[in-house]
Amino acid sequence: MTLLEKWLHIIRNCSFDNTYKAAWSKAITEIAVEYDFENNKQENVEITLLSIAQKVIRYYWEQISFFDLKQSGNPVKPPVIVSAVKELITSYQAKTGSFKPIKWFKTNAEDLCKQEYDKAIKDIVKALKADVSYRFLRIEGREIEGIYEYEQKADCLYIAADNLKQLKDNSLIVFDAINYRWTQMLENFNHSPRISKKVKIIDEDNIRRKPLNKFSAYLNIENPEQLCFLCGYVIVEEAPAIDHVIPWSYLYSDDLWNLVFAHQRCNSSKSNMIPNEDMIVRLEKRNSVLLNLLQKSGIKDKHVSELEMAMDNNYVRKFWIACQG
Ligand SMILES: [Zn+2]
Repeated sequence: MTLLEKWLHIIRNCSFDNTYKAAWSKAITEIAVEYDFENNKQENVEITLLSIAQKVIRYYWEQISFFDLKQSGNPVKPPVIVSAVKELITSYQAKTGSFKPIKWFKTNAEDLCKQEYDKAIKDIVKALKADVSYRFLRIEGREIEGIYEYEQKADCLYIAADNLKQLKDNSLIVFDAINYRWTQMLENFNHSPRISKKVKIIDEDNIRRKPLNKFSAYLNIENPEQLCFLCGYVIVEEAPAIDHVIPWSYLYSDDLWNLVFAHQRCNSSKSNMIPNEDMIVRLEKRNSVLLNLLQKSGIKDKHVSELEMAMDNNYVRKFWIACQG
């Protein structure tokens, strides 16, 4: 078997306990892509666990901060790496006062939360050392040989430059295979929709949140006084924010049936909170009135038909129940 075949074999067969092996193989492949083969002629390349941890932290940061994706089946005891990254996110949010999800490369968490960052990296290296480094090579108790050399408890592994080059040359296939496997695992632990899209999008530089202005005209029809859906008071002296009642991080979609006017401050303080039942009942009523008004005014377009479909299929309640899982 070639290195590529072995690597894909491991990814396809790695167990479903948690997503560490996927993260590990993704980080090593990324290191291969960045490696300068022109100017380095060693036969064996040293890869430190530290350099792997620095990549791994980003994968979890983004999956957790944007989509709150669970990375294992045990809700009481999340994987060590997940806890480490969550602590870092919490301290970053506390220091910046912003709860908005943010791409890792746009943060300065490394400097701003230096202590917590260093601790997270240390915890990740420790977990990789104990649970992933040598286990990655084992499938059903047997070691797949000829991939890399790793001595238990060491701080680095050694991989033949030829092997690393194969990973680099086939990185597109490898990344797709890893993301696919990662998605399959996440589907076991999460019930949120569009998981494969969520996994894929974090590899891209911009998770684009589309502007929601186009929905204002529709919302105005039912709520011309512009009352805030969250506190009930009229919104004056500012443009209303448009709020996702069921969090965007869960749905990863903008739909009229889920959008309401809110004060900027009410919107940002709510962040990714799951709505209570009172809000769900009010949203269902709002949707029914809104659809009625839209139909009366003769507006027919995809937003109206989506609203109708959402009501016929009880989306508000279904997604509300599902997002608590
Ligand atoms: Zn308000």
